[in-house]
Amino acid sequence: MRHKLLVVSGPSGVGKGTLVKALKARRSDVTESVSCTTRPPREGEKHGREYFFLSKEEFLRRIAENDFLEYDEHFGNYYGTPKSFVQEMLKSKSVILEIDVVGALNTKKAIPESVLIMIAPPSLEELKRRLTGRGTETQEAIENRLSRLEYELSQKDKYDYTVVNDDLERALKELETILDSAD
Ligand code: ADP
Ligand code: 5GP
Repeated sequence: MRHKLLVVSGPSGVGKGTLVKALKARRSDVTESVSCTTRPPREGEKHGREYFFLSKEEFLRRIAENDFLEYDEHFGNYYGTPKSFVQEMLKSKSVILEIDVVGALNTKKAIPESVLIMIAPPSLEELKRRLTGRGTETQEAIENRLSRLEYELSQKDKYDYTVVNDDLERALKELETILDSAD
């Protein structure tokens, strides 16, 4: 595979979005897939940029048409990676998928050359601080997301790499090294 498919996972609030955005900004050979979801947009999110926001009916139709590389349900909503969209982008760039553990392992099954990267927090306290500081979730949603933390991090041995997002610049350099060394 000339361009790489990098799959980035980690608990909500760990800094995946921040890292991927910064990596894209400094590497013109890297782009990000846009997933489909049935969850409503957060303030400031745009259709086709953060996600393709679909109705449940539309999402189910696309599952039936085999239009997802992988899909899963979280917090009562569907999330999925549009297959043709990713295949098209891989022709010209390395592509990053920002998806959960189940989706990542399903992607590895479908595309064994994909490189799985777990982003881990420096500590639970710091993760809580980032999640609360972002100010996009209710307290209930934060608790819900934290409850998945232990499971997500316990899966890191199935990943090719674990990157601790302590210092942003340091973590970014580690991601770049992986990008340049991955097959
Ligand atoms: P995710 O995409 O994993 O849910 P975000 O990228 O939205 O996480 O980051 C959550 C919050 O943590 C944001 O407010 C972001 O600015 C902050 N953040 C991300 N990386 C770091 C870091 N290395 N150090 C301190 N704060 C960070
Ligand atoms: P959020 O609602 O915070 O944007 O995302 C919630 C969860 O959905 C995160 O764990 C995120 O990684 C996951 N997710 C986002 N896109 C996809 C996708 O295309 N497929 C799968 N399986 N999970 C996704």
